[in-house]
Amino acid sequence: MEIFDAHAHYDDSHFDDERDKLLQEMYNDGITKIVSAGYSLEGTKKNLELSKKYSFVYTTAGISPNDLKDDFEKDIEAIDKIISENLSSGKILAVGEIGFDYHYDTDRKIQYKAFSKQIDIANKYSLPIVIHTRDAVMDTISLLKEKEVTMRGIFHCCPLNRELVKEALKLGFYISMAGPITFKNSKNADEIIQMVPLERILIETDSPYLAPEPVRGTRNNSKNLKYIIEKIAKIKGLSNEEIAKITYKNAETIYRLK
Ligand SMILES: [Zn+2]
Repeated sequence: MEIFDAHAHYDDSHFDDERDKLLQEMYNDGITKIVSAGYSLEGTKKNLELSKKYSFVYTTAGISPNDLKDDFEKDIEAIDKIISENLSSGKILAVGEIGFDYHYDTDRKIQYKAFSKQIDIANKYSLPIVIHTRDAVMDTISLLKEKEVTMRGIFHCCPLNRELVKEALKLGFYISMAGPITFKNSKNADEIIQMVPLERILIETDSPYLAPEPVRGTRNNSKNLKYIIEKIAKIKGLSNEEIAKITYKNAETIYRLK
């Protein structure tokens, strides 16, 4: 069984003690493609390095709403430059993670500017986007309706919100399922999994965060995708192998690896 982790952060300092060992182990374990996503200028650079070191690791470039500094416009220009200089490597698969996060107090006008500007960059290079959205369902949807994203994209660690999923599917986006679909307090997880057609589901860990049940609270890694696969397989009435295969193919499609 081969598995595609559509979103993780292997640059994270929680992996400093054994990053190389762990990545090699995961590959041997069947996690044969991983997108180690950027979220800040620094994170984008680090993940790009990782993707160049490992043939099975890919990356994204972008500034997340939680990483917007005072001079965020400069950072976004730098992201644009990184993409233009590295596009031919085939390792930068999307612009992201970008989006809205209203959980913290970051200025919403600044978030809007940064999100919108980075959608322009994605369109300029014909890349899809990876969206981070938290407590901002309506604004996320309305921006995506207002601004076309040519190559569409992915709702990473998609919030288990019926309205968001419905609109995201209508807009042609993929829904990436992470640890929270296994959490005992995620009451509508089953319903959301049912709502998303098989051809639009992706799986991810968001490692080192969001470890699924039964390892919730530990440092996450891509091997734990088996729990996400089991949960989706159960709801969809398919085998684990089938879910792994379908989600692998979907990730290759949206990230244009095929
Ligand atoms: Zn992430």
